[in-house]
Amino acid sequence: MRRVLTVGLATVLLLVAGATPAFAAHSWGGYHWARTANPFTLKLGDNVSGLWDSMLVTASSDWSRSTVLDTTVVAGGTSPRSCRPTSGRVEVCSARYGNTGWLGLAQIWITGGVHITQGVVKNNDYYFGGSTYQYNNTAEMQHVICQEVGHTFGLDHQSTSGASLGTCMDYYKNTSASDTQSTSPNQHDYDELAAIYAHLDGSTTIRAAPSGAAPIRTPGADANGTPIGASAARGSWYLQDLGGGSFLLTHVYWAPGAS
Ligand SMILES: [Zn+2]
Ligand SMILES: [Zn+2]
Repeated sequence: MRRVLTVGLATVLLLVAGATPAFAAHSWGGYHWARTANPFTLKLGDNVSGLWDSMLVTASSDWSRSTVLDTTVVAGGTSPRSCRPTSGRVEVCSARYGNTGWLGLAQIWITGGVHITQGVVKNNDYYFGGSTYQYNNTAEMQHVICQEVGHTFGLDHQSTSGASLGTCMDYYKNTSASDTQSTSPNQHDYDELAAIYAHLDGSTTIRAAPSGAAPIRTPGADANGTPIGASAARGSWYLQDLGGGSFLLTHVYWAPGAS
């Protein structure tokens, strides 16, 4: 991708985010799906294979315990490798994206300052399934897919210290399949979702493209650009200006210790 983040763009984003109502601690910049009623249902397109299939179902049912949103797993709308977005929903993909350094990533497209119009999750089979990667285990896989899906609702991490807070929205590293810490949301995530989605909007970005939205550019397989935000240890954020007041925000979940 050609575009390089400038300090100016980051400042614009921060100003926009700062102008939104005060959210609790781990909202992802105040970003949320616009909708006119709660609970709302978000479709998760299934473009995953192998072990990820049941993990996506588990993540979907875990997140659907939220009082404000439900998710349903539907037929995928893209190819796993390209993992192109579909307006108004989330596409969840798995493929061998290569030695990218990341286990998973989440991308959300923003219009109007805070409203999510579509989302993408990529789970990198390069590090899972036959890999010698030290955290190649099913618990870490569940941790990754749960976290990346959580980002597409507008949730940020609860902790980036590496400690387990009992939520998939932390940076704990699962050591084996039987180490199931941090593989599902905790109550604080559900409370956070309730806070993020406490207000209603006059229109919806779910399923339909918002009128007046800028043309969406398809991201590359990798998130290029200048990282914004902190916690380089396991995660980085990237911001891309799509023009017309639209932004693409990417969170990358790095593979620590991978070579
Ligand atoms: Zn809103
Ligand atoms: Zn993350």
